[in-house]
Amino acid sequence: MPRITLPDGTVKEFAAPVTAAEVAASIGAGLAKAAIGAKVNGELSDLATVLDRDCSLAIVTPKKREGGADADAMFLIRHSTAHVMAEAIQRLFPHVKLVYGPPLETGFYYDISFEGGKAISTEDFPAIEAEMAKIVAENRPFTRYEMPIDAGLAKLKGEGSKFKLDNAERATAAGSTALSWYATGTPGTHWEDLCRGPHVPATGKIGAFKVTSLASSYWKGDENLDRLTRVYGTAFATKEELAAHMAQLDEAKKRDHRVLGKQLRLFHIDEMVGQGLVLWTPNGGVVRQELQTFISEELRKQGYHQVFTPHIGKLDLYRTSGHFPYYRESQYPPLVEHEQLSMLAKEGCSCGDLVNRMEKGEIDGYLLKPMNCPHHIRIFASSPHSYRDMPVRLAEFGTVYRWEQSGEIGGMTRVRGFTQDDAHLFVREDQVAEEVLGCLSLVKLIFGTLGMSDYRVRVGLRDPDSAKYVGDPKNWDKAEEACRAAAKTLGVPFSEEPGEAAFYGPKIDFVVKDVIGRSWQLGTVQVDYNLPIRFDLSYIGADNQPHRPVMIHRAPFGSMERFVGCLIEHFAGAFPLWLAPEQVRVLPISEKSADYARELHSALRAQGIRATLDESNDRIQGKIKDASDMKVPYCAVVGPRDAEGRKVSVRAFGTEANLGEIGFDAFVDGLVREYRTRGAETVKGGMGALVK
Ligand SMILES: [Zn+2]
Ligand SMILES: [Zn+2]
Repeated sequence: MPRITLPDGTVKEFAAPVTAAEVAASIGAGLAKAAIGAKVNGELSDLATVLDRDCSLAIVTPKKREGGADADAMFLIRHSTAHVMAEAIQRLFPHVKLVYGPPLETGFYYDISFEGGKAISTEDFPAIEAEMAKIVAENRPFTRYEMPIDAGLAKLKGEGSKFKLDNAERATAAGSTALSWYATGTPGTHWEDLCRGPHVPATGKIGAFKVTSLASSYWKGDENLDRLTRVYGTAFATKEELAAHMAQLDEAKKRDHRVLGKQLRLFHIDEMVGQGLVLWTPNGGVVRQELQTFISEELRKQGYHQVFTPHIGKLDLYRTSGHFPYYRESQYPPLVEHEQLSMLAKEGCSCGDLVNRMEKGEIDGYLLKPMNCPHHIRIFASSPHSYRDMPVRLAEFGTVYRWEQSGEIGGMTRVRGFTQDDAHLFVREDQVAEEVLGCLSLVKLIFGTLGMSDYRVRVGLRDPDSAKYVGDPKNWDKAEEACRAAAKTLGVPFSEEPGEAAFYGPKIDFVVKDVIGRSWQLGTVQVDYNLPIRFDLSYIGADNQPHRPVMIHRAPFGSMERFVGCLIEHFAGAFPLWLAPEQVRVLPISEKSADYARELHSALRAQGIRATLDESNDRIQGKIKDASDMKVPYCAVVGPRDAEGRKVSVRAFGTEANLGEIGFDAFVDGLVREYRTRGAETVKGGMGALVK
């Protein structure tokens, strides 16, 4: 007699085992109709799951919740659509073998082996979608059946797909006690796939779908194994949601920072230098310098000290911090001195020995720094501190290096070397709350200045049932409360996420939504009890005794590379004046106004404005178009009449029409004001009274 607890706390009791679908029907016909899955004791399951004992149950429907589509519903719909797509592809290409087809955050893919037969191309997409539409229209049920491991493996061997056999063997090795299949319809009659599930109840529950792209991949990601084709698709509950998603993808393509970065000459990645190593070209250099200046000004106001540290440190430093050898997978290999290497070679030391001895600490070397913290810690430890000196706030735009697999590298957002807007605060216990708050208010100010008002924070707390956390639980309580309280003061949505803390302390993550609604996970503020212990840090308290400080790590943007990549897409390359590499282009209409144009150009440059002068013989429309292609915020068009009246005709980027005329000095002053106030005052605003 199962007692079933619903999300609102009500308990329903049944005389015999029931399916989740039957429970939904007992609640209401509307719910039963909308239901596509269930969460049983928190686990996503089929609606047909039989509930034969006490459990908690939530019915999953595609209805939108606040903050976007329901993630569980999307998982069910997309994974089910992957099956439908695979069946459609096998109908059209009977020779293909299926490999693996998981759902993704915004869609799904299926890896497929064409084994030398006719391969798929994007031109086949309409035919595949038409087959899929037929399967959806047939509204066939997804039917699960199970087989014991041995019988299941024998069945797969008989079918002759090494890929599915391997999937099954891995599931068995991971502890599965039976193998399960999902038939799209009746087992034995209709198409089926080895699958753990769960799925929507029938193909008719798939709302709107699209096959989107192709990529090549390798079996198990190993280029020595079979070459596969990865077919991507996406699915949503409704046509409207799919259309909105496709429109967003289009917009994202236009804003792609890799494309705009090239077009606007903001950065360059050079195979000769190395993958994932960003070269900031002069234009991108301006953006980065302006951001760093802005952040540095604010840090000075908040009592930070600027420090500079080298790009390498001894292995021993990272043994103490715990970064080596534990995170060596994500680090560049250590540097070992020449003499030491040749000595070891003479001794007959093999590469394997070298690695072993290095990890044991018998050989010293240097590491390209994966983090700035250890260097800052040694700065803190280099002089004695009293409780009155605290907190000590050390800031550095510190470049760090992480090894990423080459497949994961791209543009400015997945790189191997990057500069964090890093700082470490060494604080007394009683200062944690206030200092976390200070970090957040800085982030808020900077996001506000950049017009990124739509962001949320995640507060990562410890999992109360886990023993992996270092430090006194009482201190943890205080630090968590400090993070929670600080997050609340921001006045933006925040969520508490138990189990998401680092093992050394709670943290706050920033997730920014850009203008087209995509989320960017930027940096964090983290409270740390661990490193001060590992480095035996102390300060002298009012009681004349040594006390342990707490560290706060904060890099609100994560890295300058990632942040600028995000900004390029956010602004679609049209930076506000203060960040724009080229702020104004002076365009003489003809030779007759060339002298006046030069005078204006010099006056702007003298005020520190990044002005350029287009003295080419092009027609004025062509000059305006060139400036617009580079997304220059303002064009100052000057003709003989402007020269005579000492006026400037102003055009702002993105506006079709001429903004109007403004006096020479008023224009220069207006630009300077807009630049210095970082957009709080604008030339346009100041032109109101001056425009004729
Ligand atoms: Zn499946
Ligand atoms: Zn740190």
